[in-house]
Amino acid sequence: MRFRPIPLSLFTTFFVAVFLLLLFGLGRLTYLEIEKLNERFRNANQQLGDQEVASALTESLNIIDQKAVQLASWEEVIQQLLQPTYYTYWYRHRAKQNRFTSDYILDLALYDAEGNVLASIDTSLLPDHIQSDQLGLTIKISEYQPFVTVIKPVVNRQTNQLLGYISTLNQLMPIIESHHFSNADPATLNIDIEQSGHLSSEQFKQHLHYRLISMPYSQAIQSELADFLFRLAAITAILTLLIFPLAAWLVSRPIMAITYHINELKQYPYKKFDPVKDAPLLITELDTIRQSLDSYHNQLNQVNTTLDERNQQLQHLTQRDNLTGVLNRSAFDDYWNEISQLTGSKKLQTFLMLFDINHFKALNDSYGHQAGDDVLITIAQLINSMLRGREQLFRLGGDEFATILIGDNHRKAMQLAKQCHLAISNYPFEKLGILEPVRMSIGLAQSSTEDDSNLNTLLWQADVAVHFAKRPGYSNIVSFSAELAQHAQGLFSNRNQSVVFDAIDNGRGLVLFYQPIVNLETGHAEYYEALVRISHEDQLIMPSHIFPLVEARSLELDLDRQVIRKICADLKADKIPAGSGVSINLSAPTIVDSDLTNWLEALIPYTGQYKLLIEVTETALITQLETARKNLNKLRSMGFHIALDDFGSGYSSIRYLGTMPVDVVKFDITLTRLLDEPESNPILDHLAQMINESGHLLVAEGIETRSAATQLRQLGFRYGQGYYFGKPKAQIPAKQDYKHALNFSA
Ligand code: C2E
Ligand code: CA
Ligand code: CA
Repeated sequence: MRFRPIPLSLFTTFFVAVFLLLLFGLGRLTYLEIEKLNERFRNANQQLGDQEVASALTESLNIIDQKAVQLASWEEVIQQLLQPTYYTYWYRHRAKQNRFTSDYILDLALYDAEGNVLASIDTSLLPDHIQSDQLGLTIKISEYQPFVTVIKPVVNRQTNQLLGYISTLNQLMPIIESHHFSNADPATLNIDIEQSGHLSSEQFKQHLHYRLISMPYSQAIQSELADFLFRLAAITAILTLLIFPLAAWLVSRPIMAITYHINELKQYPYKKFDPVKDAPLLITELDTIRQSLDSYHNQLNQVNTTLDERNQQLQHLTQRDNLTGVLNRSAFDDYWNEISQLTGSKKLQTFLMLFDINHFKALNDSYGHQAGDDVLITIAQLINSMLRGREQLFRLGGDEFATILIGDNHRKAMQLAKQCHLAISNYPFEKLGILEPVRMSIGLAQSSTEDDSNLNTLLWQADVAVHFAKRPGYSNIVSFSAELAQHAQGLFSNRNQSVVFDAIDNGRGLVLFYQPIVNLETGHAEYYEALVRISHEDQLIMPSHIFPLVEARSLELDLDRQVIRKICADLKADKIPAGSGVSINLSAPTIVDSDLTNWLEALIPYTGQYKLLIEVTETALITQLETARKNLNKLRSMGFHIALDDFGSGYSSIRYLGTMPVDVVKFDITLTRLLDEPESNPILDHLAQMINESGHLLVAEGIETRSAATQLRQLGFRYGQGYYFGKPKAQIPAKQDYKHALNFSA
C-alpha cells in the first residue's frame, strides 16, 4: 500500500490537532481525579458527622435524665409531696426558678403515688395523670421540634417509701446544638416530620438530619485547581494558535525553499549555480540536497555545452553516412569516446538506444535495392525528428541506427523509444511502394555509473535487447537486463562475445578447418575449403555463433583479414598439400572493399604452388554490383579464381551469374537435398546443364551419401563436397584419394 503525499499545511494542522486533543484529554483526566478525591473526603466526613450527631443525642438525653434525677431527690419536691398545701404557689414561684432547673426545661409537674397531679394548673404542658408504666424518658415531635418527657419516682430517703412522681418536659435541640461539632453543622440540624407520638431514641435518630460543615480548604483547593486547569488550557490554546503559524512557517520555509530552488534549476537549464557560495538553505540536510542538485545540474550543463560544441564540429566533418546523411559508425566511436570522458567522472546516466528494422533483408530482396534505400532514408528522418536538440543519430551499418541519451532516467528513455516506434509504425510506407508494414525493434542499454562501461559491452547489451525485441512474446522496445542475458545463451553470452572479439582483434584462438572438395571424376581431393572456428578452452565456437556478432558489429572485414593471415600461416607451415587448392570464404563487405586487392597481396606468393579460389556470396553482388565486379576482375587478373557460393539459397542468382566474373558455382546444400525429391530432379538437371554450358565449373555442397555423389556426377557436377567425403578438420589427412568412396571400378 502506498500513501498519497499530503501538503505541508495539512501535515502541520494534523499535528496541532493531535496536540490539542492530548492537552484536553490530560485536563479532563486531572479533573476526574480531583473529583474522586473529593468524593472520598465527603464520605469520610459524613461518617464522622453521623458519629458526632449520635453521641450528641445520647449525651443530651443523659443530661435531661440526670436533671430529672436531681429534681426527684430535691428537698422541696419531697416537701411538696408530703405536704402539698402550697403546691400551686410553689409551682408558680419555685418549680422553674431554682438551682436545679435549666432553660431547656419547659415545664415540671408533681404527682402523688397514684399518678394524679398535685394540682391541675391551666398553664401546665404536662398531663394531669400518669401511669406508673410511663416511667423513664420519651421523645415526641411537635411542629418539627423534638420534646423529651421524663418521669421519675420520688422516694422518702429515710423510709424508702414511694411518695409520688416528678415529670419534666424538655427542649432537646438547644442541648444537642450546644455540643461541639467538627464535622456536622449544628445550625443545619432539622427534623423531617411535623408531628409524632412517642419515639425511642433510635427512631428519633432516623428523623434527625443535618449537613456537613462545608470544608473550606478542600473547596478552595478544588476551585483553585479548576481555575488553574482552565487557565493552563486557555494559555496553551492561545499559544498553540499563535505558534502554529509561526511553526508552520518555520518548518515549511526551508522546504519551500528547496522546491523553489528545484524550479529555478528547471527554469534556467544553462545557468551556473555555485553549490558553495550561493545562498545556503537554513537546514543542513536540505542544503546538502541543494548542493548536490546544483553540482549535478552544473555537470549536466557542462556536458551539454561540450556536446553542443562537438555537435557543431560534427556538422562540418565528413563523418556522415552517404545514404541517409546521419552520422556514421566512425563518428559514433569518436562521439562515444568523447562522452565517456565527459560523463565518466560525473556519474551521469547514459543510455544507448539501438534501432533495428525488422526483416529488412527480406524487404530489400522483394522490393529492390532502391526501395530499401528509401526505407532507410525515411526511417533516419523519422527518428531524427523525434530526437531532441543535442541528441545525434548514427547509422552503425545496414539497417542499424543508434543514439545516445545523457542525463535522462529510464522512464524518459522509454518514452522517447516509444515515440520513435510510433512514428515509424504510423508512417505510410506505401508511398515508397512497400506494401507491408515496416516495423522497428528498439533495444535500450544503460551504462552503469560504477564501472566505466566500454562501448562494446553496451552495444552488446543493446544487441541482446534488440534480439529479444524481435522475438514473439516480447515488446518491440526492450531494455537490457541481466536476466535477458541469461536467456540469450551461447550467441549472446558475455563470455562468447568477448572471445569472438578477441579472436577478431588479435587472432587469438582463431583456427581454420579444412574440408575436401573432391573431383567426382578422379576421386581426388583437389581443393580444401577453409572454414573458420574459434577455439576457446577446449571448445569450438562455430560460424553460426560467430557471424551474428560479426554482422551486428560490422566486423566482417576484420574477421576476413584475420582468416587471410591465418591461411598464409597455414600455407607457410605446409599444412595444405602442395599442388592442391584452397577455397577461401570472403564476406560481402570485404568483396566491395576498395582495399581488397591490397590486402590479398599477401597470398600472391602462393599462387604458383596452390590454386586459390575465392568464395563469394550473392549478397555482395546484389548490393554493390559495380564495385564487386571491378574487384573480382582484379582478383582474377591477380591469379585467383572466383566461386559463387551458396547458389540456390537466394532468389536472384541466375540474373547476376551472367554478368559476374565467376569461374565456379557452388550449389547450396538445399539444392543437393532436392535429389531426394524425384519430381525436382529434372529441374536440378536443367539448372546444372545450363550453368555447365555457360562455362562454369559446378560444385555440389552437402553430399552426405554415396548415392547423392553418384547422381551428382551423372548430372555433370565436376566437384563434390560434404560429410560423405569428409568433415572439416583441423588437419588435412595424408590420404587424399576418394576413389573407393565413389565406387570406381578402375
Ligand atoms: P559455407 O561456405 O556454405 O560452408 C559450408 C558449410 O556447410 C560449413 O559450415 C560446413 O561445415 C557445412 N557442411 C559441409 N558439408 C556438409 C554436409 O555434408 N552436410 C551439412 N549439413 N553441412 C555441411 P560451417 O563451417 O559452419 O560454416 C558456415 C558458414 O560460415 C559457411 O558456409 C560460410 O558462409 C561461413 N564461413 C565459414 N568460414 C568462413 C570464413 O573464413 N570467412 C567467411 N567470410 N565466412 C566463413
Ligand atoms: Ca563456402
Ligand atoms: Ca556454401
